[in-house]
Amino acid sequence: MYLKDSKTVVIKIGSSLLINDKKIIREKWLSEFAKDIHYLKKIKKNIILVSSGAIALGCKKLKLSKKKLKLDKSQAVASIGQIELMNLFKKTFNKSKINLSQILLTLEDTEKRRRAINAKRTFENLFSLGFIPIVNENDSIATSEIKYGDNDRLASRVAQISSADCLILLSDVSGLYSKDPKLDKKAKLIREIKNIDQNVEKLATNKTGEFGSGGMKTKIDAAKICQFSGCHMAIANGLINRPIQKILTKKYMYLVFA
Ligand code: GLU
Repeated sequence: MYLKDSKTVVIKIGSSLLINDKKIIREKWLSEFAKDIHYLKKIKKNIILVSSGAIALGCKKLKLSKKKLKLDKSQAVASIGQIELMNLFKKTFNKSKINLSQILLTLEDTEKRRRAINAKRTFENLFSLGFIPIVNENDSIATSEIKYGDNDRLASRVAQISSADCLILLSDVSGLYSKDPKLDKKAKLIREIKNIDQNVEKLATNKTGEFGSGGMKTKIDAAKICQFSGCHMAIANGLINRPIQKILTKKYMYLVFA
């Protein structure tokens, strides 16, 4: 099912869309993205945003490098950055008159049935109140063994518990290529994958940029979770202006797990 026909949509925003390598916040992009979300709301979609960026914005505030952070320190940094992240969204989305709420989840919240049902009910109540939840992992309290560590899989669990029809992972990659596009000019973006088999898994590497923590591997893991729950998933490069609008009109290269 494509975005156009979906009722409930989860959109994951990677850190690299919010803050660039020079640690500059991409405010213009975010305010254009808010227009995308405003449009989705207008055509009556239920929307959940899953946003990374707490650690990246915490590092920016404290002038630290993410790569050198130890787990316990990164948990404190996430706590500092999460409020920066929400302030950024609130300030930007206010201009498009979008009401936001925040939900911080741990792995257990999505895996324990009672907690998952409870989270689902909260999502539904937020939809009927006309608020858009922004979800992130509760990085400050999750310990290393029980951490998602990447928001790709968290987003797929959120899609699962909210019975979403479609999950869109926006990051700085367009999708899965037949070969490594940095090494081989003939590499082609795969447009649609119906089944995740060993060949597909072999194509996925774990390379990430300065701020992202998931590579293609976590995106494939997310696709598997979606496949089990009957949710369609797309991977798209979100760096462009108004990516959602382009996905809606299909005038854009992206990969769909159908
Ligand atoms: N939860 C982390 C944060 O907000 C990000 C995880 C990820 O990059 O996927 O900083």
